[in-house]
Parts: sequence; C-alpha cells; structure tokens
Amino acid sequence: MDKTTQDNPLPGLVAEFPRLFRGEVPGRSDLDTGWVELVRRALARIDAMLTDDQAAQVNVAQVKEKWGELRLYVFAFDLDQATQERIAGFVKEAQAESQMTCAKCGQPGDLRTDFPHVQTLCDTHAAERGEPPVRRRPPQGEPS
Ligand SMILES: [Zn+2]
Repeated sequence: MDKTTQDNPLPGLVAEFPRLFRGEVPGRSDLDTGWVELVRRALARIDAMLTDDQAAQVNVAQVKEKWGELRLYVFAFDLDQATQERIAGFVKEAQAESQMTCAKCGQPGDLRTDFPHVQTLCDTHAAERGEPPVRRRPPQGEPS
C-alpha cells in the first residue's frame, strides 16, 4: 500500500484556512486525497463570504468519511440565519460531490458496497480492492 505521511492533506488545509480551523487539525478527522479538492472548494467559498468577525464564529469540527460519503462538520455559533444556510449549502454540495468522486484519486467514482468498508471509488481503485466495475450513472455535467 502507498500509505505515506503525505497522504494526510489536513495540515495543508488547516494552513490554507486558518480562520476556519482555528489553526488546528480537528479531532478524529481523516481525509482521503481524492476528496481534497472538493473540501478545499467548499472551504474557500465559506472563507470568502465571511468577515473576520463572522469567521470567529465558525469552526471546522470534523472531516471524515462515513458510508462512502464525505462528512464535513462546520459549526457556526452566532451567525445570522442566511449566512448559516449558505455555509450549510456549500457543505451539502461537497457531500453530494463526494458521492460521485473516488476518495483515492478524485476521478468519477461510485459507491462500493461489496466490502465491509463502504467507499466511493473509481473502477481502478475498486479493482485494487478486488471489485468488479459497475455501471455508472450518466454524468450530470462535468466539473470545469
Ligand atoms: Zn480512483
């Protein structure tokens, strides 16, 4: 397996978005390399819309995979409803993207439920786990 220390992209994201992480890798968090871009995109959108005062009310509490899906927990403590809803929208978008994105490489992927550890993977990475390719849903517009 190619598990090296540089497989952990979280410290890099923390450095990139210090306001949102408060300078710390959140506890019990893990992020596969294939999902870094979609997490980065969501955090960049959230970061861009917040003033410093607002950002002080926000904290990325956990990033992980569950049931083959990204879980990105962003706490917003004291923000107006509209801002909270926009943050929730960006998080939801990233989660929806993760359901179609290989967690290992970022290529289009499908949810693989044949193994005890449910994961979203492309055919190549599913084959590495010993699974047959599956028919993919038709793409709904490629990311630019
Ligand atoms: Zn892959």
